[in-house]
Amino acid sequence: MSVTVPYRGRFAPTPSGPLHLGSLLTALASYLQARSAGGRWLLRIDDLDAERCRPEHSDAILRQLEAHQLLWDEPPRLQSRHAAEYEAAFGQLHDLGLLYPCACTRAQLARDSLPGIDGPVYAGTCRDSAPMAERLAWRLRAGEGELRLEDAWQGELRRSLRQDIGDFVVRRADGQIGYQLACVVDEAAQSITEVVRGADLIGSSFRQMLLQTQLGLAMPDYRHLPLLLDAEGRKLSKQNHAQPIASIDAGDNLHDCLELLGQAPPPALHGAAAGEVMRWAQAQWNAKKVPAGLQMPVSPVNN
Ligand SMILES: [Zn+2]
Repeated sequence: MSVTVPYRGRFAPTPSGPLHLGSLLTALASYLQARSAGGRWLLRIDDLDAERCRPEHSDAILRQLEAHQLLWDEPPRLQSRHAAEYEAAFGQLHDLGLLYPCACTRAQLARDSLPGIDGPVYAGTCRDSAPMAERLAWRLRAGEGELRLEDAWQGELRRSLRQDIGDFVVRRADGQIGYQLACVVDEAAQSITEVVRGADLIGSSFRQMLLQTQLGLAMPDYRHLPLLLDAEGRKLSKQNHAQPIASIDAGDNLHDCLELLGQAPPPALHGAAAGEVMRWAQAQWNAKKVPAGLQMPVSPVNN
């Protein structure tokens, strides 16, 4: 007898600023995936980094989501309130002998890191030494072998643990738990069954899959959206000064996102209210229509 696990999806913004079109696209795709599966859609606020994150940005994001009729089913989970759970997972990895301290400086990392598919990979400098320093980061031993991911949008993805992942930080020298470890604890706590996010996070997904294996946690499915690029071909992001989306244009913002997601919303739906656009989207959502490839040029929106 097989038991079907109810679908639980999530959107996990970092409250370092309001949502822009790229983040709305991710929120919308994950929402429609959850709704079309008859599942639940949860929110998580990735506010571990106290320097970058502000409660007023969290509030602004929640209001933006509401205006776009992206309504969550359970109280949002704030990472900043779950430090004890992250520390427990850290302790578990430590007890398994999977961690080691690292004293490398930024300059050393910049010099020694090796190129991997998703970015710089730690060279393992401190793996077999016992560094002495007042403040040490802690790294996870990635080990050897290969991880494979069947991504419904990106196809089959593979990463070498040694060459592409490397030993990554699970606790920073300032004591803050690393993003990858916190994420994995959160997905488990919220019983997430599928993670929908941008292709810029493929490297993170592999790191999180490794952590899930090591911590004995259930592994959600992952699917990665093509990245939304600006007119200059750069990733749309807060760092690149992407414009915040205006809630007053919610219906049109959603229409634009549906077009980018290959759903071909009827032109007559332009100018409609967000609720009407979302009713159409929930009835018509077809994940197979999301365009393949990593480039999705966007015409000027909200400018
Ligand atoms: Zn080191």
